[in-house]
Amino acid sequence: MITTANMALSLNPMLTGSAILALEQHGSEAQKAQYLEKLITGEWTGTMVLTEPNAGSDVGALTTRAEPVGDGSFLLSGTKIFISWGEHDVAENIIHLVLARTPGAPPGTRGISLFLVPKFLVATDGSLGARNDVTCVSLEHKIGIHSSPTCVLAFGERDGAIGYLVGDEHQGMRAMFTMMNDARLKVGLEGLGLSERAYQLALGYARERTQGAAPGQPPATQSPIIDHPDVRRMLLTMKANTEAMRALMYDTAASLDIARRHPNPATASEAMGRANLLTPIAKAWGTDLGVEMTSLAIQIFGGMGYVEESGAGQLWRDSRIAPIYEGTNGIQAIDLVIRKLPMDGGNVAAAFVADMTATATALAARPETTDIGTVLGQAIREVAATTEWLTTQSEVTDRLAGATPYLRMLGIVAGGYYLGRSALAALDAGNGPFHREKVETARFYVEQIVPQAAGLRPAVQAGSASLSAIPLTS
Ligand SMILES: Cc1cc2nc3c(=O)[nH]c(=O)nc-3n(C[C@H](O)[C@H](O)[C@H](O)COP(=O)(O)OP(=O)(O)OC[C@H]3O[C@@H](n4cnc5c(N)ncnc54)[C@H](O)[C@@H]3O)c2cc1C
Repeated sequence: MITTANMALSLNPMLTGSAILALEQHGSEAQKAQYLEKLITGEWTGTMVLTEPNAGSDVGALTTRAEPVGDGSFLLSGTKIFISWGEHDVAENIIHLVLARTPGAPPGTRGISLFLVPKFLVATDGSLGARNDVTCVSLEHKIGIHSSPTCVLAFGERDGAIGYLVGDEHQGMRAMFTMMNDARLKVGLEGLGLSERAYQLALGYARERTQGAAPGQPPATQSPIIDHPDVRRMLLTMKANTEAMRALMYDTAASLDIARRHPNPATASEAMGRANLLTPIAKAWGTDLGVEMTSLAIQIFGGMGYVEESGAGQLWRDSRIAPIYEGTNGIQAIDLVIRKLPMDGGNVAAAFVADMTATATALAARPETTDIGTVLGQAIREVAATTEWLTTQSEVTDRLAGATPYLRMLGIVAGGYYLGRSALAALDAGNGPFHREKVETARFYVEQIVPQAAGLRPAVQAGSASLSAIPLTS
């Protein structure tokens, strides 16, 4: 809801929440006692400090150094870029979680350690001391999320920024992945939050704006634009995609909760596998849809959508960063295909396909939703066959070439599965307007959006030959 209200502002508690999680899971007891309470109350905020000018997607290329002082602390020096909420005065202190290399560390991600670097040093009694050697040297001028300060941070321009190791030396990526997996789901939620807001905005406008005669009305009528079939199609596309995304995010979050808390290790491990599989889809499909749905809102507004005062433009601009940060959507697709599909010998993906198939079968068995279940079942067979093709290719470039259309395909079909589940639950719960709306939303999604999935299969299976056929020099 905070993201729907103001995505730029929501980044602040979002990153603080990820820092809390990393400290809870990897910090020492002393660090937890010293920093967690004020981060949790919001008196202090947290950041995630990875990116450098030459280390973006390839985090392992980072060069920020951390020299041991001898008293357990380190002195950090280096330049980090694009740090969200890296400097501000809306809270008393900022706790930076910074990736850096200790002397003699092995190259690549294996040599990275995580450090806690406070803006103001914290005494053991919790009081704030001197300002640390961390300076914001500039702010980025961005397309959107204008109220989120995106900073270039210089560490150690004077004596070195004092930092404390979080977890073990060279285990920084492990700790950072705790933050990143959490943040990836939350970035997916940005796509969802903005789509919801854009839908509400567009729906309100479409009900009020009158233009042209809707079908069946006398020629001189000025109908509300919501009565035009094409506008209804756009609104329903937004509504159905938003509901599908929301269900996917809930399932990912629920899987994470079960993985963390379930007393049965087998159930917890199965849930972790599901969360790992769904996270790149939640992040990449969710944020791609965020851009597309906010763009559709502008379309529904017509010319007014291109004018700032409608507010639709801000949502579109804000949404555009989400497919880029927290691992670009291209990197998410690679993660899905190269790391997630082969998990547990392919059993994690197979279990998801089996769950989707069971839902399609249940839908097909009920007269009210036979059509939904039939179309969905066919799409699931397509995605299962495509998964099989992708995971059996010997050439890694062929798998990489198909990764992005595959993630899209799986996202679309998973969306149908979630809306199908929602339709079944609605049928069981009653026959009021709310229940009927759930069934009809699933039907719309299955008729209008799910068929796009099969169209992506040739792109996934095309291989990489055409990608390298021309030199792209002009
Ligand atoms: C507004 C904003 C806020 C940010 N906040 C933070 C923050 O708080 N903390 C932080 O540490 N960073 C932050 N970032 C940085 C962000 O995470 C990076 O910009 C992002 O990871 C991409 O890195 P890059 O910009 O260097 O792009 P590059 O890595 O140069 O990527 C450029 C293109 O190449 C593609 N590409 C790169 N490598 C591969 C590969 N191996 N295979 C296939 N394709 C590839 C990418 O997908 C992309 O399309 C922020 C960035 C912005 C713009």
